[in-house]
This record gives sequence, C-alpha cells and structure tokens, in this order.
Amino acid sequence: MSEMTRTLQIISIQHELAMSIGLDLNLDKMLQLFLDRAKKRLSLRSAVVFKEAPRSRNDSDILCYPFNHRPDDTNDWLTEQVYEFSHLNVQSVCRQRGDSYYYLFKIPKFGAISFERKRTPIDDIVLNALMPLFGRLAVSCQACLEHQNLVDEISNRKAVEEQLRLQTYQDVLTGLPNRKMLNINLQSLLTNAQQHGQYGAVFFIDLDRFKLINDTLGHSVGDELLINITSKLKACIRRDDTLARVGGDEFILLLGDIGQTEQSAVGKATKVADKMLGLTRDSIELSRCAVFTSFSIGIALFPSPELNVNKSIAEQAKQLIKHADIAMYKIKHTSRNDYLFYRHELQVMSTFRSEVEQRLHVALREEAFELYFQPMVNVAGGVVAAEVLLRWHDEKLGWVGPQEFIPVAEECGLIVEIGQWVLRQTCVLISQHLDWFAEGKLRYISINISPRQFSQPHFVAQVLEIIEEFTFPHSYLRLEITEGVAMENINSAIYIMNALIVHELFFMLDDFGSGYSSLSYLHQLPLKSVKIDRSFVSKIDQNTDNQVIVEAIIYISQHFSLECVVEGIETSDEYVYFHEKDVAAIQGFHFFKPLPVGAFVKLLPSLG
Ligand code: C2E
Ligand code: MG
Ligand code: MG
Repeated sequence: MSEMTRTLQIISIQHELAMSIGLDLNLDKMLQLFLDRAKKRLSLRSAVVFKEAPRSRNDSDILCYPFNHRPDDTNDWLTEQVYEFSHLNVQSVCRQRGDSYYYLFKIPKFGAISFERKRTPIDDIVLNALMPLFGRLAVSCQACLEHQNLVDEISNRKAVEEQLRLQTYQDVLTGLPNRKMLNINLQSLLTNAQQHGQYGAVFFIDLDRFKLINDTLGHSVGDELLINITSKLKACIRRDDTLARVGGDEFILLLGDIGQTEQSAVGKATKVADKMLGLTRDSIELSRCAVFTSFSIGIALFPSPELNVNKSIAEQAKQLIKHADIAMYKIKHTSRNDYLFYRHELQVMSTFRSEVEQRLHVALREEAFELYFQPMVNVAGGVVAAEVLLRWHDEKLGWVGPQEFIPVAEECGLIVEIGQWVLRQTCVLISQHLDWFAEGKLRYISINISPRQFSQPHFVAQVLEIIEEFTFPHSYLRLEITEGVAMENINSAIYIMNALIVHELFFMLDDFGSGYSSLSYLHQLPLKSVKIDRSFVSKIDQNTDNQVIVEAIIYISQHFSLECVVEGIETSDEYVYFHEKDVAAIQGFHFFKPLPVGAFVKLLPSLG
C-alpha cells in the first residue's frame, strides 16, 4: 500500500469516527455509533466504554464499570486493567493478553475506552491519529449528560406542575373538577350565554341520606358510593357539560346551550334531572353491599330576571349557585328524590330562614321564649297530663311558630341549648306545683326532644344534670321523641333511652304514623306511650280508612303494653269516636289550646 493510500485511509478512518461524535444528544446512541464504526474500521474484536463510577468517599479511588457491557466483550481482567489505567498519569496504554492486544484510552471526566484487536497490533500512526478523537468524545459525552440532566429536570418539573394543576382544579376522590374549576367554567358559560342569547342551567345535586350511609357502613363504602355515583351522573350528561364535586355529597352540574327560550331550557333541564333521578330507582351495587340512595336537585336557569346583571360575572355566578342551592334545600326538606326550579319566592323564604337563625341567637340570650302548656284529657274529659309547647315572640319578626323555627334551630344546632332551657324551665314549674301531682290532677308533663338533641353525644348526661337539680320524682316528666331518632341508629336510641329509664324518666313516641311508621319500632324501643299523629285523627268519624289504621295502632299498642295517646281532636264528633276506645289520653283544640303558663297555672286548681 503506498504511503499516500495509507495516509488517505487514516484520514478517512479519523474522519468517519469524528463524524460519529456529537451527531446525537443521546449518550447511548452516540457511543454505540462510535464503537460500531471503530470496530469496523479498525478491525477490532471488541470495543468497550467504561464509565467512571460516581466518585466514592476517597476521591482518588475511581472505579470504572463497562458502559456498554456485553458478556463476551469484557471480563474481570480487563476491568482490573482499566482500573489500574485510570490511576496512571497517561492518556493511553496497550496491554497484551493471549493473542489479543488491548488499547485503553482515557475519555477525560467520563471514563475510558478499550479496543481489542486479535493477533496484529494497531499501527502507531493510526493510534496517534485517533488520540485527538478521545478529547472530542469527552466533550460530547459531557454535553449528552448535561442534556439528559436538563431533560430529566424539565420532565420532573412538568410532572410536579401537572400534579399541582390537578390538585388545584380537581377533586382527588372522583377526579371531577372542584369548585375552583367550576367557577371558571361557570363564568365563561355565563359570558357566552349573554353574548349568544343561549340558556344554560346550574344543578345543585345533593345525595340523600349520604351521612347515614357513611356513618353506618363506613367511609370506604361512602367513598365507593361517591365514585360510583360520579360515573352514573357522567353518563347522563354531554361531554362539554361540567360536573363538579363541591362538598362531601354535593355536586354541581353546568349545562350550556340548552335552548333559545326559557321553555325549551326548562324542557331540556327537566329531561336531564329525570334521567338523574332514574339512576337511583334500584339499589346501587357496591363491592361489599348494595345501598339505596336518591338525589335532591335544585336547578337555576340563566339568563334570569333574578340575576343582577349590573354585578360582575363572578358575582352573578355566585348568585346562580346560591339560587340552585336554595331550590335544592327546599326540595330536600319537602320530598327528597326530586328536583325543583329556583323561583323568587324561594329566595324570600331563604332570607327569612337566615333571619330566623340570627334572631334565635338573640332569643336564647335574652330568654325571649315562652312555654305554653296544652292539657291532655282522659276519655271522660278530665285533665291527666300536659304537653309543653314552645312559643317565640321576636321583636323584629313578631310571632314565629315552632314549625318555622324548630327546624332552623335543628339545623344550626341551637336546638340543643333551646332544649336544655325548655327542660329546666319545665322542671322549675313542676317543682313549684308538686301538689298537682300529689293530688292526682296531673300524671306527667311532656316535653318535645328533637332528633338532633337526642343524638348529640352528651344528651343523657345533660338531661340528668338538669333533672338532678330538682328533687321531684322523675316520672312527673315525660320525653316525646319522634321516629327520626330511631332511624339514625336504633341500637343507640335504645341504649340512650334505657340510660334515662333507669332514672324513671319515660318516653313517648310522638307523631306516630306521620313518618316511617315502622311497627317494629313500637316493639323494639323501650316506650311508655305512643301518640297517634293528628293526620289520622282529623275527621276520623267520617273516614273509614283512618279508622282502620287508628284501631290497628291502638290494638298493637295494647299488645305491647303501650299507653295510647291521640292528638289533634278538634270536634266533638272526633271525640265521640274515641269514647269507647282504649286510649290513655286525648289532646286537641276541642278541649284546650296550648295555654300560656299563667292560664295553665290558674286552670289546674279549678279542676276537680
Ligand atoms: P307536636 O309535638 O306534635 O305538638 C303538637 C302540635 O299540634 C302543636 O303545635 C299543637 O299546638 C298542635 N295541636 C294540638 N292540638 C291540635 C288540634 O286540635 N288541631 C291542630 N290543628 N293542631 C293541634 P305547635 O305548638 O305549633 O308545635 C309544632 C311542633 O313543634 C310540635 O309538634 C313539636 O314537634 C315542635 N315543638 C314545639 N315545642 C317544642 C320544643 O320545646 N322542643 C322541640 N324540640 N320541638 C318543639
Ligand atoms: Mg309533641
Ligand atoms: Mg305530635
């Protein structure tokens, strides 16, 4: 081979290897290309890259390991050679083993490279021509590493950013948008609706009895139910509609583009609401059990004359959600498992409700409540007992009936303190008139206990603390509860009742027949008496259906040794109907309306 040809050959090898460096920012790919070309052009048996291990405790102790390890390319002997070489102050060495020549080259700040050639050594001139390549290779390897670090850092940051974004705008349990995302979507929907004259709707959806399910079956069942419900609700809506979870069991749905007229918007919203109510007609199958639930849905349409368009879009969005919430609240407290469109009258009611709540605090502080007493009579018409009924005259609101303020007090929790006040005041009155009881004019005075009051954790202790301030026999008092208390948890209701019964404090089941009317409650709850609801008594002399029901309740009560009380007798015909019946007491306007304390105190001594 002529000198010229050889020189050209060396230049071409040098050129080809140089061209494989820096072609790719992927370190593996770049090195692989370099090694493949070197193997081919230099007729090598093997070519291996060794990478410096991360620096160990002792800096001088640099370990190397094969970078592109293949079992037949490397061996312990070679690794040892590389390790020794890394400590030598030279750029390259050649080692011989068997009939192989091993050439080791340093790649500064990266590692080393080994070329193995069988039988014949590499020409010195070629070796010299190769040397500058390793410097360039070192620079390229560094660039690849830095690039890789940057890519890793960016993808890490992106992952963190994505995580943050999801947490900010998504509900973790269901993966639905949260309130924040909902607000953004609602504002843009409102803006769109105003620009294009299209109707839209906001649904406030609340799961009925969710708390009961969560408390009795456990949070994991509650969570599973929410996830299940989410996918069912999603199946009722279009892809562009927004379904968000905004509270424990509260969802908000936004529907856009549901028509150009209010009539068509109502039609479309009704269809969606009907579909949703249909979802809970059957039980919902979960992994460990099946549960029954239903929805209460409040719907507010937009645009609406009840929205203040002079306010900002954000304010209007808030107002709309509030309207849907008010409608939901209303339906939840009337029928449940139903939907209701928001109307202005609902807003008036809601404002009144929050006013009542505020004034109740004042009433409690200033003792603005009054006890009224409604006597109960026996079949012969003689007074035997009385029920305490709360009355409230507020400076601003005037007379507010218990039907209006008791539910509000229940919800805001004030009922607990109000109930304690009623109990103490009743005890004071009893202790001042023990003669009524001693002379047989009264057997007991009953007070109403609301479900919330009954189920709060310290109910028994609080009742005992108050009644033990007084020395009269506790059987002079009786507590009226409704079926609602047993609904929550019958075993705990039985436990609470027994804890007071041992102190001679007895219970009466009020409004029986108006609620769930489970006859098994009559049997299971340790009751002294049962009060048949007014709705069965009204016009009983003319209504044979009600006669059958009332007679059945009286019969069952007898069987369970319960005293039967009838409430709501308004006419003499109704009274006559009960003449021959086995009832312990009768209560109603026909005999007495609830009397203020002064009138009640005057009435009793006058009785025979
Ligand atoms: P309730 O315990 O069933 O009380 C009987 C209600 O029926 C009373 O209404 C009474 O005035 C009314 N009533 C009695 N006889 C007749 C009648 O012949 N005809 C008609 N139409 N009504 C009659 P009121 O006083 O408005 O109380 C309503 C409800 O408010 C009570 O129903 C009770 O659930 C609740 N409530 C009243 N006072 C208290 C209280 O101190 N604590 C609690 N937790 N609830 C109370
Ligand atoms: Mg009552
Ligand atoms: Mg009642």
